[in-house]
Amino acid sequence: MFTIKCSKCKKKLFKYVKVGKGRLWHCWKERIVEDFTIRKGDRVMCLCGNEIGVNKGRYIKLRRHSFTYKGSIDTKA
Ligand SMILES: [Zn+2]
Repeated sequence: MFTIKCSKCKKKLFKYVKVGKGRLWHCWKERIVEDFTIRKGDRVMCLCGNEIGVNKGRYIKLRRHSFTYKGSIDTKA
């Protein structure tokens, strides 16, 4: 499980099940366990106003440098 946080205010944004190696570029909605973000149209934002990404339907395309994350990759998908 990954915990994704806002790079500005350090609040939690998502709890996310990440599978596979590599960087985190987008969040598949079916793997988001908890969601603390707010939406403005297609934009996904932190409560502090920091723009985290764009809603692309099945996933959220994340904006680089707007978030930090840590955790471990889940082996079971
Ligand atoms: Zn924030």
